[in-house]
Amino acid sequence: MIRRFQHFINGHSTPPNSGEWIDSINPATGAVWAQIARGNKADVDLAVEAALTASQQPDWRDSAANRSEILHGIADRLDSEHKQLIEIEINDNGKRIREVAAQMAGLGGWYRHFALALAKMEVEELTLDLEGVSAHLELIPYGVIGAITAWNSPLMIAAWKVAPALAGGNAVIIKPSEMASASTVLFAEVLSDVVPDGLINVVTGYGDEVGAEIVDADAVKKVSFTGSEIGGSKVATTAAKHVKPSTLELGGKSPQIVFADADLESAINGVMSGIFLSNGQSCVAGSRLIIHDEIRGAFVERLKEKLDGLHFGNPLREDTDIGPIANEAQFDKILSMVDRARQEGATIAAGGSKKVVPGFENGFFMEPTILENVSPYAEIWRKEVFGPVLCVHSFSNKEEAITLANDSDYGLAAGIWTTDEGFASEIASKIDSGTVYINHYRSVSACAPVGGIKKSGYGRELGPNAIRDFMQEKVIWNGKVGVPDPFAR
Ligand code: NDP
Repeated sequence: MIRRFQHFINGHSTPPNSGEWIDSINPATGAVWAQIARGNKADVDLAVEAALTASQQPDWRDSAANRSEILHGIADRLDSEHKQLIEIEINDNGKRIREVAAQMAGLGGWYRHFALALAKMEVEELTLDLEGVSAHLELIPYGVIGAITAWNSPLMIAAWKVAPALAGGNAVIIKPSEMASASTVLFAEVLSDVVPDGLINVVTGYGDEVGAEIVDADAVKKVSFTGSEIGGSKVATTAAKHVKPSTLELGGKSPQIVFADADLESAINGVMSGIFLSNGQSCVAGSRLIIHDEIRGAFVERLKEKLDGLHFGNPLREDTDIGPIANEAQFDKILSMVDRARQEGATIAAGGSKKVVPGFENGFFMEPTILENVSPYAEIWRKEVFGPVLCVHSFSNKEEAITLANDSDYGLAAGIWTTDEGFASEIASKIDSGTVYINHYRSVSACAPVGGIKKSGYGRELGPNAIRDFMQEKVIWNGKVGVPDPFAR
């Protein structure tokens, strides 16, 4: 009997109004392992009503202390129960256990961070340039927030939205990707007795059905979206129609710039982690290697040696280095982009093909791929692959490196590798990107904002303003002296 994951609405598992289900495919085996509810407008309406009611409760909306306590409760529950989420998420997206276990172990921490940050928020007195009045700022919740997430790290992406949104006094409706919804449903179920009904709702289904209905719902007052440029653009268009704000965390084509004086072993590890961890299915994947021409040959050779030692296999095993691509559509897309790159003149330095893994012959495994002779005009250099494909281009001077790095529609993340600290800062200030890493890659913290510029999106998640981003400013003016007659002569 295949396990079914229903919606989670108003504190309860809720069957789909349509009676329809969507198969969830395990990408390691290619087989259906579960089914998720196919949501529609009626399900979204139920969730919106539940979220609206929950968000208006005075002991939630007006009591930061109560919200902080509930967020601590969520954190504690996730600390003790996160292990049951690991296998579920891996069955859905094939990410290997060492990465998923680390993400899940850290899940409670995101909620605890915002519980503590909320407790420190204070009413802000405004310093005015006027006499006879004072003013202070009140922050008020939006009410209902739509949180739309991608399939690569469903629960971590959800945490970045849900934790600050709840801290800000809102209720949320989460729409996970239809490719990887099960862990988000189970997450809500696991929290059912620590979160008041209606504050966290999960409606599963297709983006253009459920996702679009959430964004279109009048009572949803803000949308936080993580996904592709196309999805983000649709969400922003609908949100604009309703004059509701949206935050878009979209794709990237992040450069890794390696200068000749870099600590090469460290740079090699950083480039490997940037593009081959999670099979490159990461928004900050460092997919463009921009490397000084003196060291290019040796660097690529060393990368190839490292790839040769990697072990493909079951993502549930600790000794697996490379699991499957998360779903068949993504697998086909990556392989066809590599094919087109070949036709456009790129040469394959490593990988480039499907990988047949004994015992997992129907899985979506692919060889980590390095492409050389890639033109900066080629599709593979310019478009996000969201897969384990590293494109290499060399430079001879820093101006050329900066131009290559910035010549992109995206601006999410960048890496700089050099042992000269002053030079690194100079280059970092010239890179157009939401994040620049110097001599490491991928750090992420609740204290530092995440987000992109250009077509990588707008708005930020995490960081010092994360809770405020889910609240609206209201100014309260106080007159301190009597009001004079406005028409006095
Ligand atoms: P998609 O844009 O296809 O989907 C993202 C989410 O949006 C899914 O839940 C999807 O539902 C939903 N959706 C799709 N269409 C609509 C719509 N019209 N209205 C509302 N919701 C909709 O992206 P992927 O899931 O393929 O994720 C990969 C992308 O996400 C990559 O581009 C990657 O760079 C980006 N990403 C960005 C991150 C960041 O922080 N910047 C982090 C992680 C990923 P469904 O899938 O069910 O159709």
